[in-house]
Amino acid sequence: MPLNRAAQISIDLAALQHNFQQVKKYSPNSKVMPVIKANAYGHSMLQVAKSLSAADGFAVAQLEEAVSLREHGIDKSITVFQGFSNQLQLEQILQNNLRPAISQLWQLELLESYLKNNSLLKEKPLDTWLKINTGMGRLGVQPDDVEAAWQRLNNITNTGQMGLMMHFANADEPSHISNQLQIDCFCNFSDKYNTQISVSNSAAIISELFEQQDWVRPGIMLYGSSPLLNKSAKDLKLKPVMTLQAELIAINQLKKDHHVGYGDNWSCPEDMPVGIVNIGYGDGYPRHAPSGTPVAVNGQQTKLIGRVSMDSIAVDLRNIDAECGAIVELWGKQISVDEVALKSGTISYELLCNVGRIAT
Ligand SMILES: *Cc1c(COP(=O)(O)O)cnc(C)c1O
Repeated sequence: MPLNRAAQISIDLAALQHNFQQVKKYSPNSKVMPVIKANAYGHSMLQVAKSLSAADGFAVAQLEEAVSLREHGIDKSITVFQGFSNQLQLEQILQNNLRPAISQLWQLELLESYLKNNSLLKEKPLDTWLKINTGMGRLGVQPDDVEAAWQRLNNITNTGQMGLMMHFANADEPSHISNQLQIDCFCNFSDKYNTQISVSNSAAIISELFEQQDWVRPGIMLYGSSPLLNKSAKDLKLKPVMTLQAELIAINQLKKDHHVGYGDNWSCPEDMPVGIVNIGYGDGYPRHAPSGTPVAVNGQQTKLIGRVSMDSIAVDLRNIDAECGAIVELWGKQISVDEVALKSGTISYELLCNVGRIAT
């Protein structure tokens, strides 16, 4: 996958399959819907969907993503986290046989009024999820409204599959107090209704926060990045799927105290070679990556120096054997995207999405 310039993304589908098998090890009794929103976290949604042939279904955030999957021949169950927000979208859900998560009472009203006036819903059974806000405070029906919402949904979709869904706010810290509170809130309903349930994202799968469920929803772990704060991808036996590479385009011999980059925020501690690499924040490399962020030049680990520019970065070439044209890995097999994210004050999710968005 070429970027708009010389930087390159490569995707290791064997690593993706391996990570999928890790999900199966943690959740042998659950169906798996890989989460492939945001262009599969930058890994190219269609390619990932086609490659994960063992998946039981898929999940995306938006209707457009799901429709695109259908248009490209993906015929498994597709959950749409944001569901629909008007009648046109509801029709697209029905026509494309998608499974919306319903998280707002007005979505139920839309369904009810649609049913009164149209036969499409009667002809095509609609599979749904009712999403409960158990504490995340984002999407989800408020606990006080769940009972009534569930009854209303039952009256509408008694022919399709139904289920209850929730999402953890703190699964990356398994011992966080809120996890159990969210589980308790959810089980109030899931114990009562005999229906499908889906709870766990990657962090919850690995921490086994909620074992018995019909569907798990792994995202980041499939792409080989750690969802936990205190465990590396390697510890978790996850393999990086994306490699981001660029090229060494200049080597400058700079004198001691010579500044490098905008704002003079780094200067050479001695006479030394400094390399310039043709990737920057315009390509999705994080601008907040500080001096010291690891990179690998020609297979040898070294460090970023100075500020990240729009289309280039500088690297320390002391003790590095490399010529212009050498390949530079920004993250991938050698350099963990989690480490780059940590140094840059963000999470791997954002870095992966950013480069994947501008890939053509
Ligand atoms: C994005 C998302 C997931 C996947 O989360 P990961 O942390 O990437 O595993 C699961 N469920 C919902 C509702 C999501 O929005």
